Amino acid sequence: MTNPLFERAAPQGLARAGQVIECKEELRHFARLTAAVEADLAGVPEAQRPAAWRQAMVSIRLRFGFADAAGQVPALVGELGATVTAVCQRCLECFELPLAAELGHVLAAPDEPAAEPAGYDTWELGEPAFRPVDLVDEALLMAWPLAAAHASVADCGPLAQKLATDAPETVRPFAGLKAQLERSDSK
Ligand SMILES: [Zn+2]
Repeated sequence: MTNPLFERAAPQGLARAGQVIECKEELRHFARLTAAVEADLAGVPEAQRPAAWRQAMVSIRLRFGFADAAGQVPALVGELGATVTAVCQRCLECFELPLAAELGHVLAAPDEPAAEPAGYDTWELGEPAFRPVDLVDEALLMAWPLAAAHASVADCGPLAQKLATDAPETVRPFAGLKAQLERSDSK
C-alpha cells in the first residue's frame, strides 16, 4: 500500500477525499530536516554522534478538508512531533531536541489569492501539486529553535560551566538576546 505522505497530490483532491495521514516515519525521509541535523552534528566529533540519528521517529497526524462551507478552500490540520539529535549551544554536546508543530493552514496554490478564514494560517505551496512529506519537513524545520540547548544548564556538559565562569559576557549571543527580550517583556 502506498503511503499518501509520499504521493504528489493537489490540495483540492486531498481535501475532497478528506485524506487522513497518521504514521511514524524515520527522520531520513525528511530531506531538509535531515540536512539540518547533519550540518548541526558536523560540529561535534563523530564518536560523540549517536550512530542511528537518521532513524529518529517523526510522528505525523494530518487531516485534509475544506476551511469553508462551500468547499472552495482546501485546508490542513494536524500535529507533528519528532525528537532529533542536536548540538547544545551552551555546552556543544549532543542532546535530544524535541520538535513539535501544530498545523491549521489553508493550502494556497501558487499565484492564487489566498483566502484566510478565521483560525487558519496560510501555507503557500510552491507547486499546484505537492508531497505532504515536504510540507512536514518544512514545518518541523521551522520549529527548530534559534538557540537549541539542553532544557536546563544543569543538564549541560562541563563546557557550559567553564564558559559561564571564564567569560560570562562573551558566551552565547543568543542567550544574551533572549535575556534582553525577557527583561523588556517583563517591563
Ligand atoms: Zn548543554
